Amino acid sequence: MPAKLIDGKAIAASVRAQVKEKVAAFTARTGVRPGLTVVLVGENPASQVYVRHKGKAASEAGFLSRQIDLPESTPESELLDLVARLNADDTVHGILVQLPLPKQIEESKVIEAVDPAKDVDGFHPVNAGRLFTGGSSFLPCTPYGILTMLDHEKVELKGKHAVVVGRSNIVGKPAAILLLSRHATVTICHSRTIDLPSVVRAGDVVVAAVGRAEMIRGSWIKPGAVVIDVGMNRNAAGKLCGDVAFDEAREVAGLLSPVPGGVGPMTIAMLMQNTCEAAIRRAAGG
Ligand code: NDP
Repeated sequence: MPAKLIDGKAIAASVRAQVKEKVAAFTARTGVRPGLTVVLVGENPASQVYVRHKGKAASEAGFLSRQIDLPESTPESELLDLVARLNADDTVHGILVQLPLPKQIEESKVIEAVDPAKDVDGFHPVNAGRLFTGGSSFLPCTPYGILTMLDHEKVELKGKHAVVVGRSNIVGKPAAILLLSRHATVTICHSRTIDLPSVVRAGDVVVAAVGRAEMIRGSWIKPGAVVIDVGMNRNAAGKLCGDVAFDEAREVAGLLSPVPGGVGPMTIAMLMQNTCEAAIRRAAGG
């Protein structure tokens, strides 16, 4: 029997509807609209699309949505000054500086400049550290979206073997920590992992966050496994595809998230969730 597909679009829509309701109640109670400011430096076409989607989702949620566009040549000091102004602006509850940044700007400096209380991307070392130590943090949106999807599908993680392929700071590592926090036994794989197919084959849950089109084959997947495909790639035909060979995986997995329509919409929904939470925490004096 082919795998059941996880409808990320529908789950994301329900998260966004809940956020919208929460925002309406919050604004009615406090007179404050949660504010999300997205900063885009340069003209990377993919970033332009992401930023547009984020702005649209923010407006739909009832946020005060702002986009600040800066030229590709923006010096690092100018971006850091802007972040400092946004940190000090009471109408801004969430700040998102779209990555990647042009070469002259050190990403880590910008990430560390954002007030952790407005870091709705969850990339600041304070939030990453809280995730690591089990404190209350803003979770990075993509791993948060993965966990929300798994919860929605009622996937029991306790005691399961979760294999995460990829160890980036924004997807692989935080996804692994979140799975660990749910008592999964976690293996993290990367480009130096030896015999990746057999490591993946041991996974009851597989999270693929590599950035290589259709690298994870159906024959690597344990029958009945839950497979979450984070990848966003173009295949040889120019079609959007994930890191998992979808048609093959579908024949083996129990539950599978497609690309598009899987993790992608969840990432934006969780950004809305984090921004709403940032405004609520601020109003509560947190
Ligand atoms: P990175 O390039 O930062 O990390 C990729 C990871 O994959 C690295 O840890 C790397 O290992 C590992 N890797 C690369 N090649 C191999 C290989 N042959 N075998 C095993 N591991 C390998 O990517 P991101 O984490 O930022 O993104 C991963 C994918 O997810 C991309 O396709 C990206 O577009 C997508 N993405 C999707 C999002 C969404 O909302 N749907 C959001 C964010 C990302 P090493 O560390 O050793 O180099």
